[in-house]
Amino acid sequence: MRSFLLFIFVFFCISGAANSYGHTLEAITDTLGIRTVAERTEKVKMYLSLSESYRYTNPDSSIHYADKVFEDKDENSLGTLAEALSHKSAALFYKGNYQQSVKTAEIGINSLYGLEEFNKLRADLIRIAGVSSGALGSYELSLRYFLEAQSIYESIGDQDSVNSILNNIGVTRLQLDDFDEALKIFLELDAQDEIDNNLELAIPVNLAFIYFELGELDKAGQEIERALNTLDEGDNRVAGLYFLIGQIAIEEARLDEAEQAFQYSIDIYERQGNTIEQVQPLIGLSRLYLKRNDISISWDYAQQALDIADKYNATPEKALAVEMLYLISKDRNQFSRALRYFELYKALSDSLQNDKVNEEVGRLTAAYEFSQKEQELMRKQADKELEAQAKISRQRMTLIIFFVVLVLAAGLIFFLYRNSSEKKKINELLSKKNDEINENSEKLKQSNDIKNRLFSILAHDLRGPLSSLQGMISLMEMNVNSKDEIEKLMPEVGEQFNSTSTLLNNLLQWSQSQMEGYRVLPEDFDLIELISQKKTLLNHSLKKKGVDFIYPEGEYFVYADRNMIDLVLQNLISNAIKYCQEGDKIEVSLSDNNGHGIVQIEDTGVGIPAGTIPLIFSEQFYTTDGTNSEKGTGLGLMLCKEFVERNNGTIRVESEVGEGSSFYFTIPRTADHP
Ligand code: ADP
Repeated sequence: MRSFLLFIFVFFCISGAANSYGHTLEAITDTLGIRTVAERTEKVKMYLSLSESYRYTNPDSSIHYADKVFEDKDENSLGTLAEALSHKSAALFYKGNYQQSVKTAEIGINSLYGLEEFNKLRADLIRIAGVSSGALGSYELSLRYFLEAQSIYESIGDQDSVNSILNNIGVTRLQLDDFDEALKIFLELDAQDEIDNNLELAIPVNLAFIYFELGELDKAGQEIERALNTLDEGDNRVAGLYFLIGQIAIEEARLDEAEQAFQYSIDIYERQGNTIEQVQPLIGLSRLYLKRNDISISWDYAQQALDIADKYNATPEKALAVEMLYLISKDRNQFSRALRYFELYKALSDSLQNDKVNEEVGRLTAAYEFSQKEQELMRKQADKELEAQAKISRQRMTLIIFFVVLVLAAGLIFFLYRNSSEKKKINELLSKKNDEINENSEKLKQSNDIKNRLFSILAHDLRGPLSSLQGMISLMEMNVNSKDEIEKLMPEVGEQFNSTSTLLNNLLQWSQSQMEGYRVLPEDFDLIELISQKKTLLNHSLKKKGVDFIYPEGEYFVYADRNMIDLVLQNLISNAIKYCQEGDKIEVSLSDNNGHGIVQIEDTGVGIPAGTIPLIFSEQFYTTDGTNSEKGTGLGLMLCKEFVERNNGTIRVESEVGEGSSFYFTIPRTADHP
């Protein structure tokens, strides 16, 4: 007798009573025609929660809302669809549609295969499939489902679910008559400190039945007591426990107590309005009266049970009642009646099997088409998600490639830029060096020209005075000329040597200035004193030409290289004399400008044509003869320019032909001699 299985606690917990709120909300959302993704998600969430809460109280509504989730299948994720399937499959179980429940759960189980993030949901679906398979009598299959779910729950560390599945496994072991294993499981569960409240209530109930089956009636009694202490009066398991109390009492021949217990069990079912469940305690009473040899009452109870079973057309209960009638007939040696009931009992048992088979075939056919459709949907959804994932990974790949290309391009640009800027630098350096080389070669060429020119000047200008001197010395040696004649010749020769000495002085200074390391050595000195010395030196030429020379009195201190300024004054004053005629005048005047002295050498000589002014300071050795046909070299002004500039000054000329010339040069003044 497996009647106790009717009371075994299954894992579903009753939660959320049916209400009309869900329907109202659904109506509103439909009326508003909600379209946005966020609101659609809210709507789907609502469908899911309605489907979940209606599972036990109103399985049809639960299925309706689960199907609603599938209406928006394109918008919903695989997880959402699988969750809807789990609610639907549980609701189908409660409807007694076990075959379809298994099929529905299977769709979810298969579609979530290999997706770790949905492990928990997948294990829940497996458990539902296990429970429904058990209800179909496929206990081995059911056990396989539960063990698979158990290993998933363990792998994700979900202890509550592990406990719950252990309960399912324990119940299945009972159904497989594996009482020892079942006992082990429930004792293990019982030993746990923290356990779900519903499970806690179920443990003593199940242990009581196990101990009864194992013949350990005392322990069964203890568990019954424990269960009755914890269960509410209205719990349908209480009626089942009293039925068990009756069974134990019969075994222990406490027939009065047994009668009381069966009666109490029937009363509870009566109060609950549960007629069909009364069949088993009625059979219990029938057995009890058979033991008391009170055949008529025993027969009545069995007949009463059969009437109820007939009324509800419940074949298993019918089989139980008919079996009891057969046993009574046999006990009374009413063999022909006994045979009739036995044949009826056998037919019912066979039909029970056939019914199961037919039911299964019908369910299978209906479920097949349905599951085909749902599987198709799930497949499409899975494909869609795969495609979306592939799209995302493609986009990610494109992004990575883009980024890599960007980095490479940036690197290339940087490399090229560096290369080009280095090349540019090298080119700049090269062109600078080129310029320098060109400049140097130009300088070399110039200095070579200058050198050639100087040599020709030297060759020409030194030869004249030297041969004059040589001639005079020869005449003196030969005593050809009288002393008077020699004295007459002397000023002429002296004149020649004077200009030669200026020339040599110029050459010497120039050649020194061209040497590496030649330095300007500035010092404080009185410029007027220097001018005065020049006048003394050039006095003979001034007198000879009949030219006046005027210069300021007093002191005028400057800070410059004395030798260089000496050469500048020598050249400028000599030139002025050279290009003046008798009666002309030379005047040196000094003025100040911003801490610099300005020296002006003015003459009333022949002047310089405007066109030749740019040539006279250049390195082109421009020269013209003086008023007394004095020869020149074109070297003097070039040197003046260079030396003035080396002393941080400038030199220029203002001139008009026939009026005279004014040469100006600037010179740094000594700070404390203004
Ligand atoms: P040099 O006097 O040996 O010819 P300079 O370089 O001193 O060389 O002068 C260059 C030329 O400038 C002179 O030949 C002359 O033509 C012109 N010059 C220089 N000073 C005067 C001046 N005071 N008056 C007129 N011409 C001058």
